[in-house]
Parts: sequence; structure tokens; C-alpha cells
Amino acid sequence: MQQIGETRSWHGIEAARAEELLATGPEGLSEAEAASRLAKLGPNQLPGEKPPHPIWRFVAQFNNALIYFLLASAAAAFALGHGIDAAVILAVVLVNAVVGVVQEGRAEKALAGIETLLGEHALVVRDGQRQTIDARDLVPGDLILLEAGDRVAADIRIARARSLAIEEAALTGEAVAADKHAQAVAADAGIGDRSSMAFSGTLVVRGQASGYVVATGARTEIGQIGALVRAVPRMVTPLLRQIDSFGTKLTLLILAGSIALFVLATRFRGYDWVDALIAVVALAVGAIPEGLPAVITITLAIGVQRMARRRAVIRKLPAVETLGATSVICTDKTGTLTRNEMLVTRLVIPEGEATVGGSGYAPQGEIATGALPREAFADLVTCGALCNDAQLREDAGSWSLVGDPMEGALLALAAKYGIVHHKLHKHWQRVDEIPFDAAYRLMATLYRGPDGEWTVFIKGAPEAVLATCCEGTDAAHWHAATQRAAHEGERVLGFAMHHLHERPTRFDFAHLEGARMLGIMGFIDPKREEARVAIAQCRSAGIAVKMITGDHVETALAIARQLDLADEPRALTGAQIETMSDEELAQAVLETSVFARASPEHKLRIVRAEQSHGAIVAMTGDGVNDAPSLRQADVGTAMALSGTQAAREASEMVLLDDNFASIVAAVREGRTVYDNIRKVIAWTLPTNGGEIIAVVLAIALDFALPMTATQILWINLVTSVTLGLVLAFEPPEPGIMERPPRGKDAPLLSGFIAWRVGVVSLVFAAALLGVYFAALALGHPLAEARTMVVNMLVIAEIFYLFNVRYMHGRSLTWRGLLGTRAVVIAIALVSAAQLAFTYVPVMQAIFETRALSLLDGSILILTGIAIFVFLELEKMLVRRLGWFAELA
Ligand code: ADP
Ligand code: MG
Repeated sequence: MQQIGETRSWHGIEAARAEELLATGPEGLSEAEAASRLAKLGPNQLPGEKPPHPIWRFVAQFNNALIYFLLASAAAAFALGHGIDAAVILAVVLVNAVVGVVQEGRAEKALAGIETLLGEHALVVRDGQRQTIDARDLVPGDLILLEAGDRVAADIRIARARSLAIEEAALTGEAVAADKHAQAVAADAGIGDRSSMAFSGTLVVRGQASGYVVATGARTEIGQIGALVRAVPRMVTPLLRQIDSFGTKLTLLILAGSIALFVLATRFRGYDWVDALIAVVALAVGAIPEGLPAVITITLAIGVQRMARRRAVIRKLPAVETLGATSVICTDKTGTLTRNEMLVTRLVIPEGEATVGGSGYAPQGEIATGALPREAFADLVTCGALCNDAQLREDAGSWSLVGDPMEGALLALAAKYGIVHHKLHKHWQRVDEIPFDAAYRLMATLYRGPDGEWTVFIKGAPEAVLATCCEGTDAAHWHAATQRAAHEGERVLGFAMHHLHERPTRFDFAHLEGARMLGIMGFIDPKREEARVAIAQCRSAGIAVKMITGDHVETALAIARQLDLADEPRALTGAQIETMSDEELAQAVLETSVFARASPEHKLRIVRAEQSHGAIVAMTGDGVNDAPSLRQADVGTAMALSGTQAAREASEMVLLDDNFASIVAAVREGRTVYDNIRKVIAWTLPTNGGEIIAVVLAIALDFALPMTATQILWINLVTSVTLGLVLAFEPPEPGIMERPPRGKDAPLLSGFIAWRVGVVSLVFAAALLGVYFAALALGHPLAEARTMVVNMLVIAEIFYLFNVRYMHGRSLTWRGLLGTRAVVIAIALVSAAQLAFTYVPVMQAIFETRALSLLDGSILILTGIAIFVFLELEKMLVRRLGWFAELA
């Protein structure tokens, strides 16, 4: 017992000895013992990386060319005696840095929280019961079960292995999977040769095993080399990169323009060079959209959070953008489009049929055998119960399942038939098995029976089972029976058994030959109602939905029809795909919506065929063999409930509820994120544009600047962190799932956005200069005219915000005018700031502003309304004229 938690060469001793040393056994630990070991040794967890201190994050915000430029300007302004300008520039820099830290923190928290949604699990035996536990609760001595696709959660001494192969790249760098078994190896074997061990962090690629946990947490091999510390993913996506490079180009352009303007002002317009410098710097600061990347990051993070709320967890950030462009969704059938709640309803044996009633996994339900004696079905039902790895458990009258739903249904059937589980297992001893594999679609178990005979039980896809038992079987009869059941949408399994003369040394496919066909069973698996709704949504959104399943073609087609997958769904089978060239397949996928009896290699070819037409493909998968197609797909999607860890790691997205509707919800959020980013850009740039035009005209045409440098900085300070951010929270526009997906290479700064930015900049500039000259003409002093101009710009921005909120529809609706809570809060904040700016004496002193009369204020607001109406009309007109395809 004192060995527990110690390191030693577990690989060099017999499994039975390890069992003894760990004080455990084939029943596993007791819950109480496991809890006490957990308390003593701590959770099975590697120490994570500490996030950097907020101070460092704050400092990191300053590491940016633009900030250097601003700091230099502030220093220059201060040295030249413009203390207020220097202070305002510094305030801009500080506020930007604080906002940056807060937003980065929020975004990272959103992502880190999501990581924990995907905690790892392990299947263990405790108190003789199989159960799934949080991998962090594993302790040495736990009896753990491994199967293909599992990420090993602790160091394990293998006790029993069946064609087990483990890929240990995470530990040894060796990419080729190593065969593993239970026999002890030399005590001095190197890590790579310890074939009696399964190490934490490695991946089971084939077979099944059970074994005892020998080390957890930091005491595992991988814990000792200190690898695998998971860092929080960085928020970089193609879109952000696009924005960054756009921002850099724009900054350079603005700096060049500023220099030219400075030269113009000082050489030809007689500006004092200090004044000119300050004005030009202010303009550059105002014009550069330095807040843009931060707002876009936040928009992405909010998208990730919203998707998580819809049960879709993003593992790789770029998927947020890609999802919005999805044009084809390839989905599994079982569990995704259907509920994976299986119920046996039909038994077919050579002599005839029986029907079965009941619901769920409860042992109640009538077996109606008609004229046949009940005993005629004994072998079939027993085969189903013994070729089985599931367990049913009763808790206060409700039945739950550990394992595969189809196998759970077989246990429920056996219970209805009167076969008592523990009695059955007293007489029948499991000796060996061939695990189910989607590649050959059957599984077999070898038992030692009550009379000491060796018996093989086989179950699987009927044609796969038939292929192994040829003797005296009327294959055509069974195919017809299968066809009939499948046509009703039933999932069909075939069963066979036979006796061996002696125990084989290695149980394999050769021992299945000559088995006797017992019969078939039909299972119903109800469709998910929400999947049908989601499919209808996809169809209106121009997204094609393709079902790819290992199931029978008739079953698949029946379900496809129930779900309205296509008007007249057409199917291809795996066998047909085999005969096609890539070109033929590319042609065929266009009119096919069901792929049946398809294996993982077919999935890969189907994704490629879809992508050859420029489609953006989301693809679901659950098995270890699905990893290549999940990687190939643009949005690989794994299942949290039924999928393997291997599939999850190959995916961009994980569905917490395995539900097709969640994919569609995520696509909708993806479209929303993309729309909102475009809105942020379309809103941000015209403010800068309006300012630039007004100031450049003033210098070029030689009239007094309509805004002072400090005032430009003020606008930048106040509006960019409030109003711009609001758009990140925008809900989806109505009809967002009624337009076709955006093109694969559609640029972010599309024609329409460029047009909008240009038009609105001009409108803003016109309003600013109009107000300015009108005020001067009415005899207002310069300071008052400038105060009006600044307020005009902020008011115009507020009204324009309402235009931008609806890019595809009218903003002049109740819903549009009321706005979201974020909109209301931001407007309240900005209005308060503007009132202070205009009326509070200190502010008047700093920003050289003057109090405005109610009349002046009303004129500004009316102008704002006029701008809103004008831009609404422009939006309608442009759509009517059909200038931009993206608005169609
Ligand atoms: P799906 O795409 O519906 O999830 P699978 O690849 O899981 O299909 O299964 C394909 C076929 O393999 C099923 O139609 C069934 O005939 C057979 N099959 C599935 N699971 C098992 C199992 N546990 N044991 C035996 N046969 C199975
Ligand atoms: Mg399946």
C-alpha cells in the first residue's frame, strides 16, 4: 500500500503483481478508497501555465508603433508649451491601453472558460460498476478501460489488451503507433519499448484494453518532462490578420498624408509650425482606427461565448469566421439527426417474425411472437445480450445506460425476454472479443459456456455478418428481410453464433467463419424534431446538408425523407464511391444528399469533392478514423457525448449535445459575428473620414480649423470605446438565415463597405462644414462654432449607428429604433460626456468650448435626423439599383 503514488518500473513486473501492489482488483477500487487516495495524492492534473500579471499586459499594450508616435507627439507638445494637448494625447494612450487590457482579459476569459466545458473523461470500474468519471479524479489503482480514440489520462499498467496500438508522439515524438500488450517487459526497457504500459497523453489508435492506473498528475512520465502545459490560445484569426495589415497600410498612408499636410500648412499657409504640428498629430491620431483590432477581437470573443451558449464549443478561433461562410454541412445520422435512443422493435428468425413493444431501456414491453413459440427467439436474444459491452443501471425506476445505445437496447430486449443479466453472466464467461470497427461493421465475442464449450457470438451490419457465415445460409432471404425493415427507417443488425472445438490462441476473423445465421433485428431510433427544423433553415440559407452514415442505404434514405433533407434525396453507397474517380465523385456529390455504408476514407473523399467546387464544408465525426476528414473539412465538428477524444482534437468545433441543430445555431452566430465586424468597420471609418476631409479642406482652402487638435482627440477618446463597441453586441439581423452564404474569398472591405465609408465620410464632412459656416455666418464666435462642430460629429455618429445596425434591412422599424441595452447605455454615456464637454467650466477651459443654446442644440439634432433619413434612403436606393451583389 505504501507503493501507491510511488514511481517504480511497473512495466517490468507482472500485471497481477501490479494489481497486488496497488491494492486493487478486477472489481476496481471502492468509491471510498478512491476518494481517500484522491485526498492524499491530489487531482490528476498537470500544473498549468500562469497567465501574465495584468501589469505586464498593460505594458505590452504600449509596444506598438502608433503608440510610440503618440508618446513622441505628447513629449513634443509638452516641450513646446502645449501642456493640455500633451495631457489629452496621454489620456488617449492610457485609455486605449486600459481598454486593450480589459478587452484582452475578457476575450481570454471567454476562451479559457470554454476549455473547461470540454473536460476529459475516463471510463473506469469502481465497486464492480463501469462508470465515466472526470479524468482529474483518477487515482493509482483505478481500473480503467481504454478503446480506440481515447487519449490516455494517466500512466497505466495494461492488464488486458486486445489488438491494442497506441500512438506516443506526445511523449516520444514517434508518430508510428506502437503495439501494446499485457506481458511484462525488461525492467531496463526505454520509454518507447515499455509495451506493457499506456502513458498519459498518448492516443489509443486501435483496439481495446483495461489496466491499472499507476501514476497520476505530475508523477506521470509526461508530467515529469513537464510537457503538455496548455497555454491559452492566442486570439489571431485570418480576419484579424487582414484587419492588422489593413490597419498598418492605413497608418502609413495617414502618416505620409500628415507630413504632406504639415508641409502645406507651414510652407504655404503660414501656420506657426508648432500649431501645425499639433493639428496634424491630432488629425493623425483621430484618423488612425487604433481601436479597431480590439473591438473586432471582442466581437469574435462574444461570438465564441454565444456559440457556447448554443452548445457549440469553438476549439480553434478561426472557425468563428469560417462557420459564417459554411455552404455545405456533412453530418452523421445516428445521434446527430436522430436521438440515438434505440429500441428493438422487430425480431426476424428463419421461421418468422416477432414484434417488440416498450420504451427506453426499461425491461417492460411485450414480445409478440404470433404463432411461433417464444423459445424460438432464445438464441437470437441471448446473442444480442452476450455480444455486448453495455451496462444498464436502474436508479429509482429510471434506467440509464453506460455504453452504446444499440447494445443498451439489446440488454433491454433480453430483460423483456426474461433473461436476467447477472444470471446469464454466471453461466457465460467472456474470454475474448473482436471490437466493433466502422471499417468492417461487426463485432464478435468469445465465451466459455455453461457446459464448458467455446462459443462465438457475432453481431453487425447484416451483409457483414452474412459474409462471414456462408454455410447453408439463404443470403437473398436475409437481404430482402433487411431491405424491408430498413425501408421503414429501422436500423438493422444481423446476428450469428457458432461453437469452436478448442480455445483459439489468438481469436480473430478466421474463427468467425462457418457461423450460423440466427436472424436480424430492427431498431427504431426516432429523428430529432429540432434537426428537421434546422435542416429547413439550412435550405433557406443556401446551405446544403449531406448525410454520411455507416448505416444501410434504405435506413438512411428513410430518415432523410423524414427530415426533408432534399426534395427527393438521392443516395450513394460506399461501394459505389469505391468505383468512382475523384472527378466522377466531384460531379456526383452535387446531386447526392445521402452517403450510406460509407467508411471514414469515403468521408475524406467526399469532403474533398465538395471543396473542389469551392464549398466551405462543416463535417461531423466521432471515431478515431474520422480524424483525417475532420482535419480536411473547413469546420471539423466533433461530438462531446459520443465522440472520441481523437476526433475532438482534430476538430475546430465540439457539439456539447451532439445535436445537428447546434451546428446550424453556430453557423447563424458565425454569420452574425461576420456581419458585426463589417458593421464595426463601416461605423468606425467614416468618423475618421469626415474629420480628415474637414480639416484638410480647412488647411487647403485656408480657413480656421473647424475643430482644434484637442477636440479631435476628445472625439476619438469618447466615441471609439463606447459607440463602436456596441456593434459587437448586435443580435443577428432578421433574415440572416435567408440569404446565401458569403463567398469563399469575399473580402471584408467589400465594394459596399468601401462605398458606404466614402459616402458617409462625405456626408459627415458636409454636415460639419455646413454647421461651422452657418454658425460663423450667424455671428457666433469661433469657439462656439467649433463646439457646435464637435457636437455635430458626435450626434451624426450616434444617428449613423442606427443606420449601420441594419445592413441588410431597414433601420426604420420599432425594433431598429429602440436598440439593444448596449446601444442605450453607450448613447447615455456619450451624451453625458458631451454635455460635460459643452457645459462644465473645467471642460470649457481645457477644450475651449462654449455653452450652446437650446436652439443650437436642436438644430444639431435635427441635422442628425436628416443624416439618418438620408442614409436610409441611400441604402434603399443602392439596394434597389442592385449595385452590390452582397446586398441581394
Ligand atoms: P452511423 O453512421 O449510423 O453512426 P456506424 O458507422 O456507427 O453508423 O455503424 C454502421 C453499421 O455498423 C451499423 O448500421 C450497424 O450495422 C453496425 N454497427 C454499429 N455499431 C455496432 C456495434 N456496436 N456492434 C455491431 N455492429 C454495429
Ligand atoms: Mg455510429
